[in-house]
Amino acid sequence: MLNNPSRRRWIKAALLGLAATPLALKSAAPARADAAPPLLDETSASGKSIGYVADAAKVDVATHPRYQSGQTCRNCSQYLGEAGDRAGGCALVLGQWVLAGAWCDAWEAMP
Ligand code: SF4
Repeated sequence: MLNNPSRRRWIKAALLGLAATPLALKSAAPARADAAPPLLDETSASGKSIGYVADAAKVDVATHPRYQSGQTCRNCSQYLGEAGDRAGGCALVLGQWVLAGAWCDAWEAMP
């Protein structure tokens, strides 16, 4: 039954493939786990609920009277990102990141 060389090669390749599968899955898993969460979309229900504007320079003060020039997620006490990060977590937004240069109605000065 295993005297056929091509069958032996096929079985050997299949066994090697099966043996390598856990390694392939293991090496792929950290990449997914390390991937950044999606960015909050200002047009989403969550974004609208906090008056999120992805670019603080474009905040309309008529709609967001609390906004003052210079306020961004980067200098908000709720921001969880590191200095220099393009985006990071926000204590008020679960499962999504906010842009460091964004702003929302819940902006709060650093203590
Ligand atoms: Fe940005 Fe602060 Fe609003 Fe969070 S609470 S979205 S960090 S301005």
